[in-house]
Amino acid sequence: MSRRVSGGRRSGNVRVWPWAPKGTERRGFGESEKARNLTDIMMSNELPFWQGSTPMALLDILEFPDPRLRTRAVPITTFDAALSRLIDDMFETMYAAPGIGLAASQVDVHRQLIVMDCSNDRSDPLVFINPEILARENVGVMEEGCLSVPGIFDEVERAQRVRVRAKDRDGKVFECELDGIRAVCLQHEMDHLDGKLFVDYLSTLKRDRIRKKLEKERRDRPAKPTSDEVPAGAALGR
Ligand SMILES: [Zn+2]
Repeated sequence: MSRRVSGGRRSGNVRVWPWAPKGTERRGFGESEKARNLTDIMMSNELPFWQGSTPMALLDILEFPDPRLRTRAVPITTFDAALSRLIDDMFETMYAAPGIGLAASQVDVHRQLIVMDCSNDRSDPLVFINPEILARENVGVMEEGCLSVPGIFDEVERAQRVRVRAKDRDGKVFECELDGIRAVCLQHEMDHLDGKLFVDYLSTLKRDRIRKKLEKERRDRPAKPTSDEVPAGAALGR
């Protein structure tokens, strides 16, 4: 999920999403800058901030109306290093976009995995694997955006408070209560795991207009340089 923040702009090769949370503007970097950053990290002796020996990869995010976004995700049963790597890559991809939530479905990995961080300073990273909502209350309306539906925001009615049960990256079951943006974000991401998008809550007319707008924007977008990054699925041995 993404949220709208005023003052966005596109400057040179640096893509600054309009819904970047305050203070994260510099995180929206373009392809060439990404490549340089990864090379810098690999060439330097410094341990990157995520404390691993391999740099994370930015994953490609599928965009509406890509039919792969309609795939229903299956539960995760193996909690291994490949899963951990995928989780790290998804966080990096979400922060770089920037967004506040990302479901594995959006990076073409159809497993029940969600990463979220609704804070402004990356201080609230949350991982939900095989999540189920146990209780919902306080239905209300909040404006939503989605990294798979770039630049589009609209209001959706959802529970503003949920109780959820899920597994963490080690496969340990936990339960927690979420409210406000975190509750809305979790429900938005869980919809992705079911092959559902927030634009499905809008009228057919609106959804059609959004599809046409995004298809036009994609046609006008400069071709992406070829990437030698590991595709998302490779982490899970697909
Ligand atoms: Zn989304």
